[in-house]
Amino acid sequence: MTCDFSLEHYRDLLRAARAGGYRWAGFDRAPEQGDLILRHDVDLSLDAALAMAEVEAEEAAWSTWFLMTRSVFYKLASSEGERAIERLRALGHRVAHHAVYPHVDLDKRFDPVVAWHNPDPEFMTAPIEGAVNVMQAPFFDPEHYRSDSNQRWRSGCPHDDLAAGRFTWLQLLTHPEIWAFAGATMRETMESLLDADRAARLEHLRNDRIDLS
Ligand SMILES: [Zn+2]
Ligand SMILES: [Zn+2]
Repeated sequence: MTCDFSLEHYRDLLRAARAGGYRWAGFDRAPEQGDLILRHDVDLSLDAALAMAEVEAEEAAWSTWFLMTRSVFYKLASSEGERAIERLRALGHRVAHHAVYPHVDLDKRFDPVVAWHNPDPEFMTAPIEGAVNVMQAPFFDPEHYRSDSNQRWRSGCPHDDLAAGRFTWLQLLTHPEIWAFAGATMRETMESLLDADRAARLEHLRNDRIDLS
């Protein structure tokens, strides 16, 4: 098994978690022994999110998707964004809010759960009125947290530890763009994302009746 950042290996991770006896969990109650909280911060691409969400559904898994209202890369308040939320919900996933400090745009599209985008230490773990902050106790502590930030696991790919049941519980943060687009480095993966984005935008232009002849 190679620990690359691909949807195939993400599927391995889900299967490892099942083999390790974990149950899927969210942010609606305090973590318990055996919980695996799958968290996804969607920074760049709704298409990547949907591709990963389909893999989870195929593996009978569900997770919590944190979507931005203030992204410069995608627009949630578009037909594309509405379809993405609909599809995530239809697959049995939860939809929460990936907020840009200090703006919390919680509305009926989201469960009352917030993950800050690129948080500074000053506000990272601070309580948020009317919502769960995912980096607040009891949902966060460093022993029970792994993240794929910039296509690098700080303590190695967790698939072995999951399969062996070594975490009492875990919050696993993954960014769908890293897994859905090909690339051995973050730079390469971002080039793949940009290529796909250009193709998608050409399609939007066609749909907008722009003459591309
Ligand atoms: Zn691995
Ligand atoms: Zn983010």
